[in-house]
Amino acid sequence: MEKVLVSACLLGRPVRYDGGAKPVGDEVVGRWRSEGRVVVFCPEVSGGLPVPRPAAEIVGGDGADVLDGVARVLTEGGEDVSRHFVRGARLALEAARGAGVRVALLKESSPSCGSLRVYDGRFAGARVPGQGVTTALLRRAGVRVFGEDQVPEAVACLRELEGSGAAR
Ligand code: SF4
Repeated sequence: MEKVLVSACLLGRPVRYDGGAKPVGDEVVGRWRSEGRVVVFCPEVSGGLPVPRPAAEIVGGDGADVLDGVARVLTEGGEDVSRHFVRGARLALEAARGAGVRVALLKESSPSCGSLRVYDGRFAGARVPGQGVTTALLRRAGVRVFGEDQVPEAVACLRELEGSGAAR
């Protein structure tokens, strides 16, 4: 059975920068949990950041650029927290590899977990196409990453990997 790495905040864990969670309501995710498929992870907390913590955005590119050292993750106050984000991404990849994970469902728009969009680095609420730091590293390792609005796509991916309709 394929496992799925899921952002801890999507499962109701209060690990977001503001001390809250963003539980995803999709019943499929509940079924994944009861099937024992879910590997819960928060890259930012694992990377050494506290809860709550200052909001951070990627400045100068997206998560792939942070991994390549050409963009940075900064708080609104200008503190460079890139190393925590990169460390969290590496630990997420370790957790994924340890569990044999090939599919992830991560929180959209996060500077760690975003898969289609990230905030644009101006702290004005605007988002641009791009991926977070953890998503970028997971994708480089071949993990297929989806946002919480893409549960059907994630299910289709699991089906394809399992070669049957057993994933849903
Ligand atoms: Fe959620 Fe990912 Fe942010 Fe952790 S790093 S709070 S799992 S979006």
